Amino acid sequence: MDRPAILHKTAADLRLPPHLADYAAQCRAFRWEDARAALQGLPGGGLNIAFEAVDRHAAGPLRERIALRFVARDAPPVELSYGELARQTHRFAQVLRSLGVGPGAHLFVLAGRTPALHVAVLGALKLGVVVTPLFSAFGPEPIATRIRLGRGDVLVTTDTLYARKVRPLRAQMPTLRHVLLVAEDGALASTIPTDEPGTLDLAARMAAASDEPVAITTRPDDPALLHFTSGTTGTPKGALHVHDAVVTHHATGRYALDLHPEDRYWCTADPGWVTGMSYGLIAPLLHGVTSLVDREEFDAERWYTLLESERISVWYTAPTAIRMLMKAGVALARRHAFPALRFVASVGEPLNPEAVWWGREALGLPIHDNWWQTETGGIMIANTPAFDIKPGSMGRPLPGVEACIVEHLEAEGAPPQVRVIEPPGVEGELALRRGWPSMFRGYLDNEVRYRKCFAGDLYLTGDLARRDADGYYWFVGRADDVIKSAGHLIGPFEVESALMEHPAVAEAGVIGKPDPVLGELVKAFVSLRAGHEANEALRLSLLAHARLRLGAAVAPKEIAFLPALPRTRSGKIMRRLLKARELGLPEGDTSTLEGGSP
Ligand code: AMP
Repeated sequence: MDRPAILHKTAADLRLPPHLADYAAQCRAFRWEDARAALQGLPGGGLNIAFEAVDRHAAGPLRERIALRFVARDAPPVELSYGELARQTHRFAQVLRSLGVGPGAHLFVLAGRTPALHVAVLGALKLGVVVTPLFSAFGPEPIATRIRLGRGDVLVTTDTLYARKVRPLRAQMPTLRHVLLVAEDGALASTIPTDEPGTLDLAARMAAASDEPVAITTRPDDPALLHFTSGTTGTPKGALHVHDAVVTHHATGRYALDLHPEDRYWCTADPGWVTGMSYGLIAPLLHGVTSLVDREEFDAERWYTLLESERISVWYTAPTAIRMLMKAGVALARRHAFPALRFVASVGEPLNPEAVWWGREALGLPIHDNWWQTETGGIMIANTPAFDIKPGSMGRPLPGVEACIVEHLEAEGAPPQVRVIEPPGVEGELALRRGWPSMFRGYLDNEVRYRKCFAGDLYLTGDLARRDADGYYWFVGRADDVIKSAGHLIGPFEVESALMEHPAVAEAGVIGKPDPVLGELVKAFVSLRAGHEANEALRLSLLAHARLRLGAAVAPKEIAFLPALPRTRSGKIMRRLLKARELGLPEGDTSTLEGGSP
């Protein structure tokens, strides 16, 4: 269907005066020092994410307000007020202390979206323990790799996830001292008796611990969160964030999500990924709103029912979910009414223009795309409530964020040399001027890789984009081979390595293949060792092997056999060529192809 290039907002789209009402003036006046001053802080210049998110409210008029409301299909809702969340997180911090775990230690969480996960993350942050969330749909290998690389001291997980995904590879995680087990539903009252060495029953420990507040001593530049993200080559990279990131979480919750105190908010992202952590867990609490947490997986009818019955006012979701809702048809949405809903936003992958318009038809409101990544720690570019949308565009840089488009002067320079492209409409790499508080402060154990991300004071995002004459940014693609499937970033190398462990596989090359719902699906090409025959049984065996090791979220959905994979003369698999051939696109420059023309 032909749609106009601009979606003009009407009075019906704006149900509350927005925080960002005059873009140019507010961008001009914005200073991060002022944004920092909007938080309470700690005596002597300290800062702590969990204190701002929980304790600050628990000590004031919001003490009795519901902070988190957990819902599940077959269980009654569980609610935690700000006051109760403060007590539970104090208690969890005391449990860690009693185990000799203190500031600087690394805690991993692997659990569904449950009270235990939220309490563990916030309690650990209070104590200055560095937190890494893991996605519960990961298989044993991605879990073991991340805990090993991140030198995890403590893991909080459920008894079933532990038995299925952690115990089999525990020998590969030598630093892991304690595994704190919780029940599947994350209720901190259900005990999980265990006599396995190195595992403890968290509920029993919580019951025995005091809920005396622990001393909070973190400084703005102390490490807080370690998020693993994927690159084109090598193992996943641990992007390190500090407590000062809370300033960005708060400011962007205000400008990009337009959170107001009375909001009932729902972020559908899993806390195993950065969106679920920054905007599922931290930002809504910073604004003292009530946040819905659904333990179930996607279901169109359930989601509409929740939006309606939970009276959600601000909804933050993702393109894959929106495409699945679109597939289910507008009629399903129309069986519900969403009078409370006033703002809908999306992140993680390109949002099709059609989806922006669909929002208005099905939900009564357009969908607002925004852009950021693990390394930026918070939303950088956004469509916000007050402004017209150019469907297909990611929006404009938020106050305090300076973005530009750059071109590289040399292909592989170290440090990279870039030039800012001033005229609008030209495609190049999206870059951000450093200075926003949630910028990652390093890749764990990889200073060289970190330095390669910066050209002077510009952070290079690895995304290709263009800016139009009105200052809107348009996503063009990734500059590397990383795959975005259902909003999850997947490193081809991790998938290839798991496939190579299969005795029949000689080599593997993995690409993202465009998919109408997932954005991209993971497709693998493999060549076989002598003595193995390419047939359906082997293909199914490879799919099963990958799924078992990597988990459903990361494993390839399609596998094809090739006699040999295209490689460069230096031996690197040319994923770009595999992709071009798969999609029937021009093969581009093949001069470095092994056996190709010079
Ligand atoms: P992650 O670090 O997993 O959050 O993934 C970040 C990457 O997701 C970005 O570098 C982009 O490639 C992609 N991405 C995030 N938001 C958007 C968006 N609104 N439009 C297009 N791509 C996006």
